[in-house]
Amino acid sequence: MACRMLFAAELVDYSGHISARIPGTERFLIHGHPVSRAEVTADDIVTVDREGKLVEGKWNPPSELPMHIRTYLARDDVQSVAHLHNRMVVVLSMADRPLIPASNPGALFGPGPIPVYPDPALIHTNEQGDAVARRLGAGDAAILRGHGSIVVGNSIEWTFAACIDLEEAATRLYYASLLGPVRFYSEDELNRVAKGRRRMPVIQKIWDHNVAKTKLAGLLERV
Ligand SMILES: [Zn+2]
Repeated sequence: MACRMLFAAELVDYSGHISARIPGTERFLIHGHPVSRAEVTADDIVTVDREGKLVEGKWNPPSELPMHIRTYLARDDVQSVAHLHNRMVVVLSMADRPLIPASNPGALFGPGPIPVYPDPALIHTNEQGDAVARRLGAGDAAILRGHGSIVVGNSIEWTFAACIDLEEAATRLYYASLLGPVRFYSEDELNRVAKGRRRMPVIQKIWDHNVAKTKLAGLLERV
């Protein structure tokens, strides 16, 4: 569902992925490499181990799997990782514009700027995956310059909601920048807004809204 919902939200295209840790293990669930993100079913999910080897499932995992696995291994708190090819985040990175909160969706990510991993090459090796995880640090998101982003959370719902907020923050910042200098949030504003958005009912509301939106688009029928 999360995969199809990311497609419906235009945050992944023919590429990009969302994965989940099997709780308490070093095994991970992700959809198969060749499957269209618009029609992933439960049958298309594969299980991989900490080396990225296929444990169960009928497809090869995505080629950028090391980004997911090395992030899980670096962060015990992370239960779900998304890698997006999200347009407006990429647009800002192309212009070297820092993504700093100036609207409520951006407040989820702290004072910013959201860290940028500078190399646009696809993440195919453990060394590259480690470098992305280092750039992410203890944060919720990092931008991959010219390429996309990585977003993490303590559940699939949390990660999904953060994906929505990240792209919305970038989109609003882009439009505001066209009008002139942008007024960024003060530390006090940031703290008060972030507190309200980090509650599970808000995350669940974002999830439920996107379930409805994806159903309306006819993209959740074969779950
Ligand atoms: Zn990618």
